[in-house]
Amino acid sequence: MHSLNVTGPSPSQSDQQQAFDYLIVGAGFAGSVLAERLAAGLNKRVLVIDRRSHIGGNAYDHYDEAGVLIHRYGPHIFHTNAQRIVDYLSRFTQWRPYEHRVLAVVDGQQVPIPINRTTLNALYGLDLQSDEEAERYLASRAEPVETIRTSEDVVVNQIGRELYEKFFRGYTRKQWGLDPSQLDKMVTSRVPTRTNTDDRYFTDTFQQMPLEGYTRMFERMLDHPNISIMLNTDYRQVRDQVAYKHLIYCGPIDEYFDHCFGKLPYRSLKFEHQSLEQEQFQSVATVNYPDETVPYTRISEYKHLTGQQHASTSITYEYPSAEGDPYYPIPRPENAELYKRYEQLAAETPGVTFLGRLGTYKYYNMDQVVGQALALYKRIEEAHNGPAPG
Ligand code: FAD
Ligand code: UDP
Repeated sequence: MHSLNVTGPSPSQSDQQQAFDYLIVGAGFAGSVLAERLAAGLNKRVLVIDRRSHIGGNAYDHYDEAGVLIHRYGPHIFHTNAQRIVDYLSRFTQWRPYEHRVLAVVDGQQVPIPINRTTLNALYGLDLQSDEEAERYLASRAEPVETIRTSEDVVVNQIGRELYEKFFRGYTRKQWGLDPSQLDKMVTSRVPTRTNTDDRYFTDTFQQMPLEGYTRMFERMLDHPNISIMLNTDYRQVRDQVAYKHLIYCGPIDEYFDHCFGKLPYRSLKFEHQSLEQEQFQSVATVNYPDETVPYTRISEYKHLTGQQHASTSITYEYPSAEGDPYYPIPRPENAELYKRYEQLAAETPGVTFLGRLGTYKYYNMDQVVGQALALYKRIEEAHNGPAPG
């Protein structure tokens, strides 16, 4: 990172003396997109801080000791249907086409997930030839649920209990430390069921990876004379030392308010990164292990995502955990209620706006966070300039 204006953890004298228009806490997608817009679009002076040693938030990637590009916080695959988000990010990166494919280890076989016709044929020795046949087969297994509220209901209703238990129950119990019956239906609804043989994980119109990686894209985004960056710097360390007019907070909202209504639950992961002296470890980027007796949920191999040619390869095991950095807001009604109390308090607190996956307690993908930051920018811009004509 050569051209960025980076310091930390102590503010430089000039950072202490001059007032910033915005202090942005968190250099992930939320904070970096907003910083770029405010600096380049409205000529605002922005200080971005992050308590980690790098920019990029959870999308941070870097070359490991073997020289393989890896994602420190687990595999990040960019996909979206929103052209304006692609257009925006394309200012900072070129792209490499990549369609994500995932296999699940079930009954000793590796089969496609999302469940599709190939999965059903492999698992049950069937010869379903058409969408209609697969549809009828799934309908014969489905166990209709009257009111679909939970992550169990939505799957059992669609494919029946046996397939639910093979693919979803164990994985979800590991990933969230909760039974699917305790989680909002939106969690397992992220993974559809198909009657065709499409084995892509996502069907979005745009599925590409930043050509030189996420971190390079963030470097270009933050490379602006109006943007200063402080790394290894927690908000609490500097909040009284730097002068700013408005705060954008992309960390956990409950932490900002000293957990005054109690802790908002977030799920964490431990990442075990391994470098292997072989060209390839597995046939696709990610293999899921729904079996509850296996302690990890999935293994990912980065070279599939990045297209990097290298004599060795690097993989990551994900072990879900209650302790550690907050990665996932946990979608269930009582947590949504608690978040609402913090949201209300935030609305009554002048001078600060919350943003991003942790700041707004939303299980958002990267493109959704970019969209959220661009929407906030638009509101700021309108307040600044008056609404755009038309
Ligand atoms: P973050 O990236 O979490 O950034 C917040 C930053 O704020 C962090 O860097 C943190 O250090 C900093 N911070 C917090 N509190 C403070 C403080 N008090 N002081 C200073 N700094 C602070 N999305 C996809 O679209 N595709 C995927 O394939 C995908 N895979 C994922 C895999 C995993 C394992 C995880 C955990 C997430 C995945 N996501 C994926 C989601 C994606 O990571 C998020 O949507 C996105 O990174 C959120 O950006 P953000 O800026 O809101 O938060
Ligand atoms: N899921 C599952 N089995 C799988 C894949 C996913 O049960 O093989 C469930 C699990 O609850 C998971 C959720 O579906 O948390 C969403 O999956 P996704 O791959 O979107 O999770 P993420 O990439 O956000 O961790």
